[in-house]
Amino acid sequence: MANLMNEFPNIEIKQDEPLMNYTYTHTGGPADWLAFPETIDQVRELVNYVHEHKMSLTVLGNASNLIVGDGGIDDLTIILTRLNKVEVHDNKVTAQAGASYVETTKAARDNKLTGLEFAAGIPGSIGGAIFMNAGAYGGETKNVVSEATVMLPDGTITHLSNEELDFGYRHSSVQDNNGIVLDATFTLEPGNYDEIKAKMDDLNERRAAKQPLDLPSCGSVFKRPAGYYAGKLIHDAGLQGYTYGGAQVSTKHAGFIVNIDHGTAADYVNVIHHVQKTVKEKFGVTLETEVRIIGRQD
Ligand SMILES: Cc1cc2nc3c(=O)[nH]c(=O)nc-3n(C[C@H](O)[C@H](O)[C@H](O)COP(=O)(O)OP(=O)(O)OC[C@H]3O[C@@H](n4cnc5c(N)ncnc54)[C@H](O)[C@@H]3O)c2cc1C
Repeated sequence: MANLMNEFPNIEIKQDEPLMNYTYTHTGGPADWLAFPETIDQVRELVNYVHEHKMSLTVLGNASNLIVGDGGIDDLTIILTRLNKVEVHDNKVTAQAGASYVETTKAARDNKLTGLEFAAGIPGSIGGAIFMNAGAYGGETKNVVSEATVMLPDGTITHLSNEELDFGYRHSSVQDNNGIVLDATFTLEPGNYDEIKAKMDDLNERRAAKQPLDLPSCGSVFKRPAGYYAGKLIHDAGLQGYTYGGAQVSTKHAGFIVNIDHGTAADYVNVIHHVQKTVKEKFGVTLETEVRIIGRQD
């Protein structure tokens, strides 16, 4: 394979870069190549190259909803955190894909715009939030996004409306068209700074009280099964504290799996399988993962 650092001298690219340095779980083997594009043109150059050379392409935002296999990721991985501009015009906030959701909610607050408070503590990027339709405390990304700019695998750029993003529970059309979200525009309502701030502070306090934020994790591991709460099923199955290697079902929040001692992706996957099997046996409920398990699992 060509040396991508020579192919793209203007883009920072690392070879065999350990992804555990980037993921919230602190797990994951090396990316063959990890690129840090800073402009849309750089993203397009990389996408075109991958398309032409029939390589695989993996996109990372803040890597807060991922378990990357211990064997790492084939070919090219791009991380979008340097595409992170946030702009506010009237009641619209446009954030590039790599901007953090948290910073975007602060920009809305500082411009006295209400509607994004629910996302104050979601640690992902805007691209990851669109991809996953991230939500919390009764709010969902789909309720506030008016459109997103998406690059398709052949390098063309398209603007998708809220409808075209086809949001569902932890789903958007970007999961189906293999697109790369480049930015998203949120349409908000004028509000009162103090009220917006109070709501954000309250949600962050509730989060800190319930979630093991002092340990590496990927947030809620499982989707909410219809009619149940994953965390309650896991709690009722007596699984809190279950440990495999360095990965443990959190004793603070049953829906989280925390990395307590140099846990690997394989440890995480073992815990996930044990939880799924036990909950199925005890309650007959299938738990599907919300977290994305990607890469070489060896
Ligand atoms: C402590 C903690 C709390 C959390 N709380 C919540 C919560 O309350 N609500 C919630 O919904 N989630 C929560 N999460 C999960 C996570 O933050 C969200 O799913 C978030 O939206 C993921 O964004 P990310 O940038 O980290 O995505 P990543 O983990 O980097 O990627 C997730 C998926 O999105 C894809 N992706 C990322 N960026 C792009 C892009 N620009 N274009 C196309 N695809 C892309 C990736 O390929 C991958 O498949 C939590 C996680 C943690 C660690």
